[in-house]
Amino acid sequence: MTVPSPVADGFGRPLKSLRVSVTDRCNLRCGYCMPESEYIWLPRSSVLSFEEIDRLVGIFASLGVDKIRLTGGEPLLRQELPTLVAALAKQPSISEIALTTNAVLLPRHAEALRAAGLDRVTVSLDTVRADRYATFAKATRFEAAVEGIDAARSAGFPRLKINAVVVRGFNDDELVDLLEFATQRGAEVRYIEYMDVGGATGWSLDQVVSQREILATLAATYGSIEAVPDGAKSSAPAQRFRLADGRTFGIIASTTVPFCRTCDRARITADGYLYLCLYADTGLPLRDLVRSGASDDEIRGTIADAWRARRDRGAEERVQLRSRNVLHGVEELRADPHREMHTRGG
Ligand code: SAM
Ligand code: SF4
Ligand code: SF4
Repeated sequence: MTVPSPVADGFGRPLKSLRVSVTDRCNLRCGYCMPESEYIWLPRSSVLSFEEIDRLVGIFASLGVDKIRLTGGEPLLRQELPTLVAALAKQPSISEIALTTNAVLLPRHAEALRAAGLDRVTVSLDTVRADRYATFAKATRFEAAVEGIDAARSAGFPRLKINAVVVRGFNDDELVDLLEFATQRGAEVRYIEYMDVGGATGWSLDQVVSQREILATLAATYGSIEAVPDGAKSSAPAQRFRLADGRTFGIIASTTVPFCRTCDRARITADGYLYLCLYADTGLPLRDLVRSGASDDEIRGTIADAWRARRDRGAEERVQLRSRNVLHGVEELRADPHREMHTRGG
């Protein structure tokens, strides 16, 4: 099998990884992602079928993509997700299929996903306190999420990760508890700085707990912390660290120390829009091409042209702003729900 050489963007960044949102719906309402009481949903008829996703993934793979991450919304709300995983797992150029989930539905689906060929699971869990979870995610599903993490372990998923967005005044007093919880579950915690992405309509800079502060808080309990060197070609968003006792954790410092220079990620929304950056204002409606009878070569050419022209570095540009506030107001989000994090896929 010949491995396609990746197409490079305007800064020389290869196209290697694709995040596929399979639904914009969610069973939680996390305060940093879906704080509003009402949302405009993508029309169901616009949502890509598994066949359409599989075809697009094949075209992306021919341009160099070898990693797929399924996301949403909550991807486990999409019926028959293991069927999609099984189809993608048959693509020879795809070396890894991962899933980002809130884990609430994992107890039901972990085994089938593993059997279908899913390689890795990242669970989002921001608190280890059931009462806080209920308030913050507006759902009493804490126990289900914990069962989901355990189900992922039992199903044999290696290198389980737990993502926790740190928000001052909500869970910044749980950094140690989260690390201990992850250890008990055989997982690695990754703290995520609260980002001013679309949908975070309650964002403010003073609620961001920076990487520097996270490290200082952990050092006060655990003592010295050392950075784990990145691999030479790493494009992973998390910087990893090691405690003196050997345990490791990660920090995704997108808000204060962005990593756009190594960003090799494209995203497609559930209705087939291509986005070249989490912060990009507009996307490319690949669905129209797919449904209008365009050939694989035509679609490949369109994606390759878009990637070659890419000069996005959204998070780095945000850092340079003099005063930083929410990215989009509610009206802007309503005018185009593709601006929402839960539509674009985190
Ligand atoms: N529902 C799934 C989940 O929560 O894992 C997948 C979709 S969710 C949009 C993907 C990731 O985006 C989650 O880890 C979530 O914590 C993160 N996220 C959402 N809004 C965020 C924000 N404002 N700042 C930082 N991370 C955010
Ligand atoms: Fe929370 Fe993920 Fe749902 Fe957003 S999409 S509300 S982060 S569970
Ligand atoms: Fe990539 Fe955009 Fe995120 Fe920067 S802000 S890392 S370019 S997706």
